[in-house]
Amino acid sequence: MKIKQQLQGMASYKPGMTPENVRASLGLEKIVKLSSNENPKGPSPKAIEAATKSLQQIFLYPDGYGLQLKQCLAAMHGMPVEQFILGNGSDEIILILCRALLQAGDNTVMPTPSFPQYRHNAMIEGAECREVELIQGAHALDAMAEAIDDSTKIVWICNPNNPTGVHISSEAFVAFMEKVPPHVLVVSDEAYIEYVTADDFPDSLALISKYPNLMVLRTFSKAYGLAGLRVGYGVASEALISQIDPAREPFNTSIPAHSAAIAALSDVNYLAETRNENAAIKATFRTFCESLGLTVYPSETNFVLVDFHAPADEVYNGLLHEGFIVRSGAALGFPSAVRITIGSEEDMAELSAAISRVLPTLTVGEEK
Ligand SMILES: *Cc1c(COP(=O)(O)O)cnc(C)c1O
Repeated sequence: MKIKQQLQGMASYKPGMTPENVRASLGLEKIVKLSSNENPKGPSPKAIEAATKSLQQIFLYPDGYGLQLKQCLAAMHGMPVEQFILGNGSDEIILILCRALLQAGDNTVMPTPSFPQYRHNAMIEGAECREVELIQGAHALDAMAEAIDDSTKIVWICNPNNPTGVHISSEAFVAFMEKVPPHVLVVSDEAYIEYVTADDFPDSLALISKYPNLMVLRTFSKAYGLAGLRVGYGVASEALISQIDPAREPFNTSIPAHSAAIAALSDVNYLAETRNENAAIKATFRTFCESLGLTVYPSETNFVLVDFHAPADEVYNGLLHEGFIVRSGAALGFPSAVRITIGSEEDMAELSAAISRVLPTLTVGEEK
């Protein structure tokens, strides 16, 4: 057997530690997971109820097209059903796009550090990855536009960016779209859009009618609290959706996922609570971190990248021993920072106390 050359030496996705791992290895009673940007409130109770009810139907294949869910999305966004594609998480839509557009000889432009799945899936298809360094946590859009050539097929935009939380303004995004030639697909991954409070965030869905080479990705995994059910969606021109759809597995999203997502969309109050609580807790946590002299990247998401100016793994391990699982920046391209999901008010207060205890134990003076 000979697997694709480019897969040789590639590593599987490394998830963070699970609370069970930490409990077993450190013997701590309470473990708080703040490493994967999940919603600490969980999903709307209506979503859980709908998913539970739907279990009666799981001997059947799901509607592979996910029509009911797409109808809800279409109504919500005021766009036709034909402009939507569902994925087993938006991760799967990234895979579908790479599968549909990329092959050896092509290249794809992306920010770095950013969400690793753009690079991962593009590599498997044998495309060249042109990674453009962020500037202070933000996309270097001019440099990204310059990296495009005749062989570029996809440009990835992560707005707001994971792992920095920094967003791209509407003005900057439109100026970028104007520079991108029409043969290049721009994918705007907006996994955290429900958390955004900045009023200059692009209305990317409205831009699709102007830019047929724009695709927007959204997910139910973050603010909607349904990461475990794996459901996300893409929005683009009808022509683009119908061209990539044959690269999708026929039954890629499940019956419980459809039911829970539909119910989650209907509970607008729950989403508003999620968003307001996150913004308030994030602001308090930021003020606390800054009072200690730490640097917090401006975040429009439910996580913050905090630069401790000390080795990231020391911070990570220190907080782990206090019962908090965060994401070390060492593996994310930020060797002196950690990415911390905004948890509940109580958990963030306890985390703040833990940070005060860990801080004096760190090797100081490490600059990024
Ligand atoms: C979490 C995340 C996703 C993936 O979400 P799923 O829908 O769970 O696959 C995509 N993009 C970014 C930037 C993310 O942070």
